[in-house]
Amino acid sequence: MTAKLLRGGPVAAEIRETVAADVVAFKTEFGYTPQLAIVVVGADAPSMVYLERILKGCDKVGIDGRLVELEGDCTETELARAIDVLGAEREVAGIIVQQPLPACIPLRVVLDTLDPRKDIDGIHPLNAGLLSLGYEGYLPATAHASVELLKQSGIELTGAHAAVVGRSNVIGKPVSLLLQREHATVTMCHSRTRDLGAILRQADVVVAAAGRPGLVTGDMLKPGAVVVDVGINVTDDGLVGDVDFDSAVEVAGAITPVPGGVGPLTNAILLTHLMRAARDQATHHIAVGAPSVRTR
Ligand code: NAP
Repeated sequence: MTAKLLRGGPVAAEIRETVAADVVAFKTEFGYTPQLAIVVVGADAPSMVYLERILKGCDKVGIDGRLVELEGDCTETELARAIDVLGAEREVAGIIVQQPLPACIPLRVVLDTLDPRKDIDGIHPLNAGLLSLGYEGYLPATAHASVELLKQSGIELTGAHAAVVGRSNVIGKPVSLLLQREHATVTMCHSRTRDLGAILRQADVVVAAAGRPGLVTGDMLKPGAVVVDVGINVTDDGLVGDVDFDSAVEVAGAITPVPGGVGPLTNAILLTHLMRAARDQATHHIAVGAPSVRTR
């Protein structure tokens, strides 16, 4: 068997078209261009590549992408002040603070300062709480993209057994919650899971987000399983996922390539979050300090 490839690019292109039209309508209605601000503390090369892709994505749809660079040795107060200033600017609809932060700055500084209405990558506890209670706050974009790719590809999730490898706050945990929302039965795996292969072989859907190149191999998969490889690992062989593609593609029914799977969709999804935030803020539909709460 050779698996069908689930590419994020075509879905991302469709989403970008819709966002571009939305930006035009927004400008006409409210008279300004919404901005996405990315705060970077001590820029390093790999994260700059990732951030430049986001800025390019903004450019394509007419959103103002803005890079705010702080020195690597900046203080907690300086970071908090930068986030505060952006939070007060009307044009800035969304703020992303690049992680990881330097070891001397705890994430708490960001969480204490970031306005949850501008938290378009869903890191604020309020947005995480809304997700876990089944309400619609801002979702972490990668997790959102992983599940959206499955939905857009017509993968049946209701009643499916999904195994998620990784339990981070930004990917594994929100992916598992979103899959439960789609009525999948979810098993969460992590570094202490015993016999990962035995669990994955029972799964109809596998989402790998461990940051371990080649962790999931073809012999760990049920024939016909759908595999979403969220991992992005820089190796001597180039960029690879958490799934050993060559062995997995022979067993799976469908699989995301790396690169070209979840990554391109993540960036497009982020722009939809930005436009939702821009509209919510421009129309003052929400109480100060709280993102809109919508039941599903
Ligand atoms: P993370 O915070 O390091 O979390 C990794 C998770 O994987 C942890 O829960 C860890 O378990 C688990 N894990 C590690 N080794 C394992 C093993 N041998 N078996 C089973 N589970 C294991 O990483 P993250 O931020 O979630 O990122 C995960 C991957 O996604 C990375 O490769 C990252 O580069 C990639 N990523 C992709 C995108 C995209 O757009 N595609 C965006 C962001 C990140 P414990 O909890 O027990 O430690």
